[in-house]
Amino acid sequence: MYVVGQNCLGCRFSDCVDVCPVKDCFKIGANMVVIDPTLCIDCGLCEKVCPANAITSDLNSELKWIEHNAKYSQIWPAINTVIAPMINAQANINLQNKETKFDATAQEIN
Ligand code: SF4
Repeated sequence: MYVVGQNCLGCRFSDCVDVCPVKDCFKIGANMVVIDPTLCIDCGLCEKVCPANAITSDLNSELKWIEHNAKYSQIWPAINTVIAPMINAQANINLQNKETKFDATAQEIN
């Protein structure tokens, strides 16, 4: 199982979406993406390309985010194409206390 963890917050690079072979596997919220655990085939491609090292299969380090990926992947809309990263994404890679930045709002997709 692969999950998107807190390192995605404030960055939301979408390199992961670009390499994922499964349609609708990634879902998008206001400041991060999550993986739908019911669709993911555990190929691991997304983990290798994330500039923020936000994706992991080390589930012991991401217990809270397992729940968040499962929950919000059933609420937020799917994203299947690359989008621009968030403003200041590069600088936000090293933000402290990222967990407090979580926003449960779904991203509106045009
Ligand atoms: Fe998609 Fe593979 Fe990442 Fe799962 S592990 S989200 S199938 S790229």
